[in-house]
Amino acid sequence: KPKVRFAPSPTGPLHIGGARSALFNYLFAAHQGGELVLRIEDTDLERSRQEYEEEIVASLKWLGINWTEGIEAGGDNGPYRQTERLDIYRHYTQQLLDQGLAYYCFCSQAELEQERQEQFARGITPHYGGKCNHLSEAEVKERLEAGEPASIRFRVPQNTIYVVNDLVRGQVSFESENSGDFIIVKSDGIPVYNFAVVIDDVLMGITHVVRAEEHLSNTPRQLMLYDALRFSRPEFAHISLILGSDRQKMSKRHGATSLIQYRELGYLPEALLNFLALLGWAPEGEQEIMSKEEIIAAFTLERVSKSPAVFDIDKLNWMNQQYIKKIATADLKNMLLPYINQTEYAADVAALPETKQLVLVDAIRDHLVCLSDVADLLDVFFRETEYEEQALVVLQKENVLPVLEMFKDEFPDYLEPQELQQFLKGIVKKTKLKPKDVYMPLRSALSGRTHGPELPFLIYIWGKDNTLVRLEKTIQ
Ligand code: GLU
Repeated sequence: KPKVRFAPSPTGPLHIGGARSALFNYLFAAHQGGELVLRIEDTDLERSRQEYEEEIVASLKWLGINWTEGIEAGGDNGPYRQTERLDIYRHYTQQLLDQGLAYYCFCSQAELEQERQEQFARGITPHYGGKCNHLSEAEVKERLEAGEPASIRFRVPQNTIYVVNDLVRGQVSFESENSGDFIIVKSDGIPVYNFAVVIDDVLMGITHVVRAEEHLSNTPRQLMLYDALRFSRPEFAHISLILGSDRQKMSKRHGATSLIQYRELGYLPEALLNFLALLGWAPEGEQEIMSKEEIIAAFTLERVSKSPAVFDIDKLNWMNQQYIKKIATADLKNMLLPYINQTEYAADVAALPETKQLVLVDAIRDHLVCLSDVADLLDVFFRETEYEEQALVVLQKENVLPVLEMFKDEFPDYLEPQELQQFLKGIVKKTKLKPKDVYMPLRSALSGRTHGPELPFLIYIWGKDNTLVRLEKTIQ
């Protein structure tokens, strides 16, 4: 059974790309009854923050991704935060040093920078030239004892070709030529990502490394380290980039990028999960709206595409609407309340009897792309009528006044939405006008707009008195 991991760096909130990687790992494991490990890669001491870790964990839970080992879940292979595993890395560093597969490097930042610039000027790809490669043991000892800062470099095997049979990208090969001896432990004793990741993946029993394509270029270094440490390699699967609809790399320009933002806007986790699953993966057949269980049942890496996925916000919006349509009215009301309570209409809504609140929810349901849209949709129920240009045009037409008069004169005492619907149909019949020529003037007169929630719902929520007050305003 496969064991995979999601290994975020807590240097920012969880973004769409990271969430998609986490999801693909989760789906891949769940499909085969495997396991998912959550590990925190916090070796970038300057940029890592506890709050980000918490945010990432909260975002994963919200989305519906469950892990069985790691942060919060615990397990036999912990700790699961890299900064708490430094002893483990030290052990393997020593092993590589003892075997002559790694060496101390005393070059300063300034020296390294100068080397890079010279190489660059000569048209050579910058790489470490190997200055400390051949220092004598005695010299190394002496300089270390004198307290000179030293990093540790991995001695890259010469003339070797590294091949990986990536489960998504197929066979990819790299030449070791292109890489100078690289640092595995910085002078402050902190291991670099490529080193720690290999040790952790092995010790945690990871069978498949499923991650973003941007890490493909790190893979050769990791392969070198697997070999040097005599570890057997896991399988690799690099999943494609996510592009904005303009085919540029996803960025803030394309709208919300972090999961927290989507959550706050009122996207449903089920809809976002469904949408993310289809970023680079497609099931057989045409079905797009799928539950988590259906996606798990269908998910395989064979159906993950090599080409970049395009983030289409219209599609996400459409999906979110589909999910909103299916929610029971009382549940949707509870989901909307936090958003309603942030508006100036919180008290107006609270003052409505429960039955009217539920009708209100059904009246706006089809107009919600995400839950926070409720804020704009409440205006029409609770604000005094303001006439839009188009509504005024409608009201200037002939035949309008008799319709409004009839509506006023015949308005019954108290009616439910369905009966109001009948009442409006009755007016259509009596006036012998087209339905549109009845509804449009009424809507324009009462709400000041030509679009919006169904008229019977609006009238029901306003109540008789309020409705007639609105009407008077126009007739005068
Ligand atoms: N910490 C790395 C990241 O957040 C993980 C890369 C990997 O999955 O190997 O990008």
